[in-house]
Amino acid sequence: MIITICGGGNAAHTLTGLLASQEDQSVRVYAPYGDEAERWQLGVRRGGGITVHTPAGKRSGCPQLISRHAREAVAGSHLVILALPAFAHEATLQAIAPYLEPGAWVGALPARGGFDLGARAALAGCAAQVSLFGLQTLPWACRIQHYGRQAVVLGVKEQVDIAAWPPAQAPVIATRLQELLGVRLNPVDSFLSLTLADTGQIIHPGIMYGHFHAWNGQPYPEQLLFYQGVDSAIAETLERMSAEVQDLRSGLEKRYPGLALSAVRPLSEWMLRSYPGAIENASTLQSQFATNRSYAGLQAPMRPVVGGFVPDFEARYLAEDVPFGLLVTRGIAMLAGVATPVIDSVLAWAQARLGKEYLVADRLEGADLTATRAPQRYAITSLDQFMSIYSNLQQPVGGMSDET
Ligand code: NAD
Repeated sequence: MIITICGGGNAAHTLTGLLASQEDQSVRVYAPYGDEAERWQLGVRRGGGITVHTPAGKRSGCPQLISRHAREAVAGSHLVILALPAFAHEATLQAIAPYLEPGAWVGALPARGGFDLGARAALAGCAAQVSLFGLQTLPWACRIQHYGRQAVVLGVKEQVDIAAWPPAQAPVIATRLQELLGVRLNPVDSFLSLTLADTGQIIHPGIMYGHFHAWNGQPYPEQLLFYQGVDSAIAETLERMSAEVQDLRSGLEKRYPGLALSAVRPLSEWMLRSYPGAIENASTLQSQFATNRSYAGLQAPMRPVVGGFVPDFEARYLAEDVPFGLLVTRGIAMLAGVATPVIDSVLAWAQARLGKEYLVADRLEGADLTATRAPQRYAITSLDQFMSIYSNLQQPVGGMSDET
């Protein structure tokens, strides 16, 4: 199999090392950002390839090619993986679109919300010739140790959801990727499931809001613990955000009887499923965060300043999880006429902290909507128009408004 990894960060290094260490895989890297291709080539020359230290041992392999040129890296590839933050997806897809082989599998680890909407827009004419896939999250917590030659896997997820388009491809792609990645992949019905089931869109902006919405501008004496610092008020915000996503889920399922969104789980259920054995006290959502060993010691994104630490509002917990997460769900809720008052409070606060305008009053009409994957950005103005993407659904029945 010829595989192209797009990106030059932690995820791209880890994937490249793990895949190139397998026989019969020819791995190429597409790294157009800054001087990453040159730095990566230098690193590989020095290290004789890339080594990834995993909890199960060391794996080493050498990419066949590292290039900043899309044609060189992508032409002839069977599998193209975007191992990138979501804000880089569309530009990367536009750059590689002319060189994609008909029948290729093109996907993202992780997909984040609305990946399919963005990918179809970016690939334009050639979208119909490829299969798209997306993973709910990156299967690993991983970091580069030495650029171009060494990475470390700090933790591995037990299982990860995967969606595909066309949807029938999901089990086929899941089976092959599972062999390649060595992680259990769980096919879900559609990209819509993946978008709504993304718990990062609740957890990250919700906890940021909880910790910092009343911040008075004074430095904190020390960095806050992001997850262990979840108190009952923050947990309640998270519960209510999750309940609003569940309202949207059940409303959509009622209106479209063929639709299965069972992968869109309430947050507490997701916690217990994702961290079996790691949670000491599972009695409340607050205790599930505060006593989760996998979260122990993880700090809130904050910057040192004179006198202590201040919140870093540019961190991905807002900068990625809002425009490519919570806002996508909010856009779907708007089409469906489902009220999301708590999510709206979090978004109103987050957009002010990000210096962006997405929501104007309660409408997705802000100037910065163009840098998001909310359906409204793609001129989708009705629920039926949006749901026609996830076709094979039965005719809608009454019940939800079809607000634009
Ligand atoms: P990273 O910060 O290491 O990767 C950044 C890379 O993105 C850069 O090296 C560059 O190749 C590319 N990039 C940055 N800006 C770009 C631009 N303007 N145009 C084109 N390319 C650009 O990120 P990562 O750790 O590899 O994470 C990738 C994704 O996986 C992110 O969405 C992250 O939230 C998610 N994730 C990572 C981890 C982890 O442990 N690393 C865990 C869970 C989820």
